Amino acid sequence: MADFDVVIENGTIVDGTRMPRYRADLGVRSGRISTIGRLSGRNADRRIDATGLVVAPGFVDLHTHYDAQLFWDPTCSISSWHGVTSVVIGNCGFGFAPVKPDQRERAMRTMTRVEAIPYDAMQAGMPWDWVTFPEFLDSIDRRPKAVNMLPYVPVSPLLTWVMGLEAAKTRAPTDGEEREICRLLDEAMDAGGCGWSAQRLDPEGPACVQRDFDGSPMVSDVMRSETCYALAGVLARRNSGFVQMTMVSREPWNDFGEFEKIAEISGRPVLYNVVQPRDDLPDIHRSTVAWLESCRQRGLRVYGQGVTTDTDMTFSLADWNMFDDSPPWCEATTGTPGERLEKLSDPRRRPALREQLPRVTTNAFERIVVTSVERADLKPFEGLTLREVGERVGQHPVDAMLDLAVSDGLRTQFHAPGPNQNADFLKEMLEHEHIIPGVSDGGAHTKFFTGGRYPTDLLARVVRDLGMLSLEEAHWRLSALPAACAGFRERGALREGAPADVVVYDYDQLQLEPVEIAHDLPGGEWRRVQRAKGYRCVLVNGEVTLENDRPTGAASGQLLRHGG
Ligand SMILES: [Zn+2]
Repeated sequence: MADFDVVIENGTIVDGTRMPRYRADLGVRSGRISTIGRLSGRNADRRIDATGLVVAPGFVDLHTHYDAQLFWDPTCSISSWHGVTSVVIGNCGFGFAPVKPDQRERAMRTMTRVEAIPYDAMQAGMPWDWVTFPEFLDSIDRRPKAVNMLPYVPVSPLLTWVMGLEAAKTRAPTDGEEREICRLLDEAMDAGGCGWSAQRLDPEGPACVQRDFDGSPMVSDVMRSETCYALAGVLARRNSGFVQMTMVSREPWNDFGEFEKIAEISGRPVLYNVVQPRDDLPDIHRSTVAWLESCRQRGLRVYGQGVTTDTDMTFSLADWNMFDDSPPWCEATTGTPGERLEKLSDPRRRPALREQLPRVTTNAFERIVVTSVERADLKPFEGLTLREVGERVGQHPVDAMLDLAVSDGLRTQFHAPGPNQNADFLKEMLEHEHIIPGVSDGGAHTKFFTGGRYPTDLLARVVRDLGMLSLEEAHWRLSALPAACAGFRERGALREGAPADVVVYDYDQLQLEPVEIAHDLPGGEWRRVQRAKGYRCVLVNGEVTLENDRPTGAASGQLLRHGG
């Protein structure tokens, strides 16, 4: 019998603990890192030459929505293509359990808008062989997985289960209902849930950009604070789990006190979503980072999920939902493509659409670019910004956009640059060491956004090209910090005895490939994807799941109940 299953030879070890890098071999046996050192004389079933390459812990992605996709894509791409070896699912309070059988259809409809997961893909690709949360975990356990998974207990299904959808959206739970909601959280965590998640965007506020399929707020958006405190109390009693919460309220922009209270009550780590620098509003990230720093001074475990990659979006108005922060835009972009077409052509709606521009997705509406049109006579508009189109046709950019899209049957593709282009602001945010890079939103908004590229983008652009972080710091942020925050036991660093989640890549050559369209979803649906170049291999629990940037078919990932 060989001494090792795999030996990764002569690589530069960046172990994720912020220790300085060094050159060594890494031996894997029975799914774990058994030795780091000189292993040249020892025999192994497989040797991987890592000369000139970086050997680092697999990346831990805390913000994903693979709750549907994991059933048809064991690799959880595109995250796994970018070195991610563990994901947390069930973010923002959204998920598919517990869901009563007669509510399955409604649950899928909800996800078509709030996270923009195509309905036909869910309909064709989800087995629905569960009702309760523990049964949902059993179903995940049975599936092949190429990444490890840590499941949040999302709060929206809990409230909907206990109160019914209408009541959960319109009134506070009774004391009895609240006790039952807490009991269900306890039960879900007994089964292996890692804590709870909630999106709480003020429906009247400036950022309620992710809504239910009919344009109404999500259950979690209207959940009252007392329910959050009760759920935080469950974690306190258990002394386990953590909280992810997305929150933006009217004034001030960020509702910091709510996070502090949840951290105080629970005594557990709380992940603030999201810290996103905006070129037009630098006070947002500055005040958030200052607040995170003050939490640290006071001993509160509050971490920031930081947006480190360009949040540019490509979309057509046939299915776009990210202008929901503006009521007239939300109203005009709900419904079937036919209903949208009618509303967007209606001249009576135009004044409100012009006056109440969406601002969360873009800080400069007129900088949105027309990337492609279907109708031949409209081709001259391709490549122009909405301002330029407006100038050409003598119209306001909103009318120019909508007239163009309507006459093109809503098939026109637009590209909105992210509102976070300023590199100095990115640097200011990253200087705070409790900022966890992301946000991938993996499995969500897949027609518009490829945020799963963030680890590659961080290493190639932010670290190598812009020099904003050391490589040691970057790997700590990509793996050890999120793993510790989320309660992954043993993972996040290269240590002898730890599970062998390892990334081997070429630091000099690492790069993003262009965005492509892939017709690889069930139900005949499609998505935008973005690959990377430079990953020599990725190991999950000791098995090679990605080699030369391509999945191997190995499904060695595990559902990590209770974090391990
Ligand atoms: Zn989310």
